[in-house]
Amino acid sequence: MGTDNRFDFDVLIAGGGFAGVYCAQAIARRLPTAEARQRIAIVADHNYMVFQPMLAEVAGSSISPRHVVNPIRSLCRSVSVLRGAITDIDLPARTLALNAGLFTPNLTVRYNHLVLALGGIVDLSRVPGMPEHAFLMKSIGDAQELRGAVIDRLEEATLQRDEAAIKRLLTFVIVGGGYSGVETAGQILDLIQGINRFYPRIARRDYRVVLVHSGPHLLPEISEDLGRYCEKNISARGVEIFLNTRVTSMTASTVTLSDGRVFESHTVVSTVGNAPHPLLVDLCKKNNIPTEKARVITDESMRVQGFENLWAAGDCAAVPMAVKGAKPSAASPAGAAPASAGAAMSVSPFDPRKYCPSTAQFAYRQGICLGKNIAAILKGSSAPPHKFTFTGLGELASIGHQSAVADIMGLRFSGFIAWIMWRTIYLMKLPGLDRRLRVVIDWTLDLFFPRDITLLRARTTEVVQEVHLEKGDTIFHAGEPATSFYVVKSGRIELRDDTGPVMSICPGEHFGERALLHDRKWRFTATATEPTTLVSLEAKVFQAISGASASIHEFFEHSSQQYLSRQQIDSIKKTVSPEVLCLKCSDVMSKTPITLRTTDTLAQALATVVKHPFNSFPLLDANEKLIGLITQSQIYDALKDGDLTRESLVEKLAPCAIPTIQGATLIDDALETLMRSGRNKLLIADSDGKLQGVLTPIDLLGREGKPDL
Ligand SMILES: Cc1cc2nc3c(=O)[nH]c(=O)nc-3n(C[C@H](O)[C@H](O)[C@H](O)COP(=O)(O)OP(=O)(O)OC[C@H]3O[C@@H](n4cnc5c(N)ncnc54)[C@H](O)[C@@H]3O)c2cc1C
Repeated sequence: MGTDNRFDFDVLIAGGGFAGVYCAQAIARRLPTAEARQRIAIVADHNYMVFQPMLAEVAGSSISPRHVVNPIRSLCRSVSVLRGAITDIDLPARTLALNAGLFTPNLTVRYNHLVLALGGIVDLSRVPGMPEHAFLMKSIGDAQELRGAVIDRLEEATLQRDEAAIKRLLTFVIVGGGYSGVETAGQILDLIQGINRFYPRIARRDYRVVLVHSGPHLLPEISEDLGRYCEKNISARGVEIFLNTRVTSMTASTVTLSDGRVFESHTVVSTVGNAPHPLLVDLCKKNNIPTEKARVITDESMRVQGFENLWAAGDCAAVPMAVKGAKPSAASPAGAAPASAGAAMSVSPFDPRKYCPSTAQFAYRQGICLGKNIAAILKGSSAPPHKFTFTGLGELASIGHQSAVADIMGLRFSGFIAWIMWRTIYLMKLPGLDRRLRVVIDWTLDLFFPRDITLLRARTTEVVQEVHLEKGDTIFHAGEPATSFYVVKSGRIELRDDTGPVMSICPGEHFGERALLHDRKWRFTATATEPTTLVSLEAKVFQAISGASASIHEFFEHSSQQYLSRQQIDSIKKTVSPEVLCLKCSDVMSKTPITLRTTDTLAQALATVVKHPFNSFPLLDANEKLIGLITQSQIYDALKDGDLTRESLVEKLAPCAIPTIQGATLIDDALETLMRSGRNKLLIADSDGKLQGVLTPIDLLGREGKPDL
């Protein structure tokens, strides 16, 4: 980023994980610092990089969560760091849209070269109940949440007398027998056994750790015999293992397996369900980029085929796998003819059918190799880029209780030696000397002291929040991404577009539903016109509620129609003849509306409804003054729920507010008020508040056809 605040870079690295961070470092190392900062940027939605191989230890409370994360700014000091969520990538325009946070408008960042290093996501939607109830093991927050849940369950179990409830609380089910699942199962067992002394009412027979795996043996990433060793070892420690079995559904307290078995448990951890990043799925579809299981296919130098300036690495990329033992040929552009007949006879160093696995050891090395290639291009080198030829050093998995399994360069180890090896290798790979020292201290303390059971929960953003605004404060601008639904508790919000104010939102009214249900962007700018308090509901929660109930969805769909732009209102008005628009409301309104009175009994109100089956009725007080509108359903609900009797007075019902205008108002203005109100009628009252009539769209349509106008 230049001092002139341009967001324009030669190289933009999207993603601050293993691939992104090591790519940025490799480029920065090859350029003068000032130049690197000017030309290179890394973009990530968190300002830290997570060392995922140690997440299970965080869940097991043997390492502090802060010790397995590193600030990207400290890892990549010589490049620009942009913290924000990428919301769109436009390849033809070479730009990327960034949501930088609550108080910053969306940014557009330009680039010459783009590196895709966004990793993947977890999608549990194929198993009913799993997205709502399963714990994940993907982020630092997931690991902390799981640790907290395990300790919570022990705390609750000590207060229970019911055997079945204790069992349910102390049954922990881990789904997936890859290294993440095995390590998590081992760590949960270590944690419970390590802290059991603080919960004397809980005996060994009370808790269960269950591991469910769809394959025939654990650790499919390693080898069958080490998988079998691991199975023997952890089942001897008490983990119950179910192979060739899948979870078919779950609730907050049960898990059903494909063999029909049902476990009662409140704590299910899913380590499966890796899915492609949705941004890249869209990007590939839009730009016809070839994919392998939705990973972006690259050539051996990690360039995306068909795009000179687009690169990909890490979990989101399908990088061709080098063949073990085959000598890499002299670098030559993909598809170039072999230099000699001898070369033509040699084994190709790449297996065209195989891609590198999605692991940290590959992502990290791909990042470095790609960084070197891009740095060479920036320096004007005309040599072809290096090909990625790493074939993997082997695999390691820590299975808890000071035991691990390892397959390193064909040599297989297990037990304590493998565990020491696991710790040494991962410690060396952990970025940052200070982090390594802190982890060594954590591990050392873990040998002598019990694991920490303190339940410290950071106050996370509430899904429902109150927001206070002073007069003139703007809550969002037109064009920004919509993130919340709002209800005005007190004060007033004005919505405006570039033609001026379009709507005023009063206490009890809401806004935000149109943007959340449709294009996810604000159509208007919202500003408080007086000191205002809003209640806000997170977009995710709003969408979950409106998606779950057809009637709520219909309600919001209906109310979302009131957010019409000036152009839309003008084009609707054009459908009404100019003669009608110039009329006064008093000329067009129905002058003898059916009303209810506060002094009517509900039985009388009911009789009115039966005789005149309208949806709603104006309500008048004893002085004939208009005080709002009563709907049919309010009367029925009050009687049905038994809150009121047939003899109760209508004054006990709370009337709905409805826009009221005066008879002299022109139809032109009344029509706009009607459209913006989201209702199907307007009440016309005189200056004393006495009802004069009712105006509905039907009155207007009726007038359209009248020849005497
Ligand atoms: C629990 C667990 C244990 C593991 N153990 C091992 C192991 O022992 N050995 C091993 O080799 N591998 C292991 N892995 C796999 C390894 O962690 C991944 O292969 C590796 O992290 C991939 O690196 P990456 O850079 O491609 O993606 P990631 O590390 O996932 O990084 C993706 C980056 O993109 C950013 N990002 C995503 N979306 C956006 C967006 N819209 N806007 C801005 N930024 C965005 C993220 O914040 C992140 O910075 C484990 C994984 C897990 C989850």
